[in-house]
Amino acid sequence: MALIVQKFGGSSVADAARVRNVARIVTDTHKAGNDVVVVVSAQGDTTDDLIAKAAEITGNAPKREMDQLLTAGEQISISLLAMACNELGCPTVSLLGWQAGFQTDSKYGAARIKTVRTERLQVELGRKNIVVVAGFQGLCKYDDITTLGRGGSDTSAVALAAALHADRCQIFTDVEGVFTADPRKLRHAQKLAEITYDEMLELATLGAQVLNNRSVEMAKKYNVELEVLSSLTNQPGTIVKEAANMEKMLVRGVTKDSDAARISVIGVPDVPGIAFKIFSRLAAKNINVDIILQSVGHQGRQDISFTVGSDHAEEAIGLLRGLDLLNGLELVCDTAVAKVSAVGAGMETHPGTASKMFEALFEADINILMIATSEIKISVLIAEADADRAVAAVHRAFFAEG
Ligand code: ADP
Ligand code: ASP
Ligand code: MG
Repeated sequence: MALIVQKFGGSSVADAARVRNVARIVTDTHKAGNDVVVVVSAQGDTTDDLIAKAAEITGNAPKREMDQLLTAGEQISISLLAMACNELGCPTVSLLGWQAGFQTDSKYGAARIKTVRTERLQVELGRKNIVVVAGFQGLCKYDDITTLGRGGSDTSAVALAAALHADRCQIFTDVEGVFTADPRKLRHAQKLAEITYDEMLELATLGAQVLNNRSVEMAKKYNVELEVLSSLTNQPGTIVKEAANMEKMLVRGVTKDSDAARISVIGVPDVPGIAFKIFSRLAAKNINVDIILQSVGHQGRQDISFTVGSDHAEEAIGLLRGLDLLNGLELVCDTAVAKVSAVGAGMETHPGTASKMFEALFEADINILMIATSEIKISVLIAEADADRAVAAVHRAFFAEG
């Protein structure tokens, strides 16, 4: 007998037929003699619909109230799934995040899990119940409901698997695993049998939403092996695990992130301390800066460009306008850009990887605006309109198509 955590995303529970399908998977696992804890997301587009409802009322909703609103989505799906499992003959209880012991910090909208108090879960498992837990939510020290940020149910599942020392953690979704590129966008994308935590973390952070990046971070920290698989086909998925004994691939995946903006400050004085003043101003407001490019100085002046998430672009520009030392300088913001990245642990030891990627982009006549590299990834910033073509071209350069 094993303790298994199973997580089902929004499309896996989108309607009554899908809820029944999930109930069948869960109850089959339970009937095979396992303890089962299930995490579910809100049905289909419910979270987006709730956000739209708030926007009908105000353009400036308090984050606390947004969390109250959004957690309603998961409350619907846990109760429906519990009903469906009971129908199939397995005693099942549903628990909201706070009932399942999720304690978070009080950063509404992007809360971090501090602990999971498992007493109630243990009691329910001791009663041989299937336990269905609402993903994406917890309770902070002010007894307020919080949410973990979009895609946060993956993190709920990993946190539960770690807290309960589960034997397996399965993330069911609407594709058969992690692919070499988004399989919905690229027909030739191939399913990966396995991928390291570090590679998955890069892919998730750089745009592959199949797993939330925080969930991968947590899985690595607590050494929770993940299996990503489809709730709709009975096929083996992708294992996300430690690098030991895994063949290094030059490139494991190619991904794009359209949620980027490039900000350029033109003609800043070429003197010490400028970069410090610009970027400390942004850091103080928790604005994450990604690629940074500083031009060679000319006649005592230089340009500094950097990228931020597009939802932070306006705030970043406002902050820079408030800096005396940039008074009167031209600030340019371009949101029609995207970051395309190739990720793979093998590139650490293969210096030709970057040039191969640049060659593929050159052959597709795609202009590179900025470049960033680390041991296991190469990212380029390009025009957003070219992003899908760029992913296809880079993918073609590294993977046989057939
Ligand atoms: P869920 O609702 O189950 O959490 P998501 O929509 O968050 O599902 O994530 C699954 C989606 O991730 C897939 O439908 C697919 O389009 C997208 N995706 C992007 N990149 C990849 C990739 N490299 N491998 C698999 N899926 C990917
Ligand atoms: N329902 C939430 C969202 O849409 C959480 C999740 O799906 O993981 O972001
Ligand atoms: Mg998701």
